[in-house]
Amino acid sequence: MKLARITIPHSILAGMRNHVEINLPNEACGLLGGKDGNVNIHIPVRNTVQSPIEFRMDPEEQLRGLMLLDEQNVDLLAIYHSHPTGAANPSLTDLRSHLYPEAACIILARKTPAWSIQAFWITEGNYSVILLDEAD
Ligand SMILES: [Zn+2]
Repeated sequence: MKLARITIPHSILAGMRNHVEINLPNEACGLLGGKDGNVNIHIPVRNTVQSPIEFRMDPEEQLRGLMLLDEQNVDLLAIYHSHPTGAANPSLTDLRSHLYPEAACIILARKTPAWSIQAFWITEGNYSVILLDEAD
């Protein structure tokens, strides 16, 4: 079931911001796991293409991450990546290459000096915005 809202604790958001920051100028990516829209696990994944306009998750790290979520008995809630160039919305490539329709697509867009963060559902080449809450 697709949730209308995703909640991410501050500590995990800080970890995501740190991960995208240290990967500049390239895109960074990772997995978010949890239950009922509440994220409680953040798994940074290496971007194998090392590009400022594209990401491809390291397949081994991705698989290990998905297995960890399974072991913890949580769902894959979102796949996130960064847009160092600042575009806030999913790109055409993002729309085509989002492989997990049941997981949200979260994009951190660089808005110097901070990062904006937005969550989307991607279905059949289109996207819609999901509410994203920050929790303590
Ligand atoms: Zn993108």
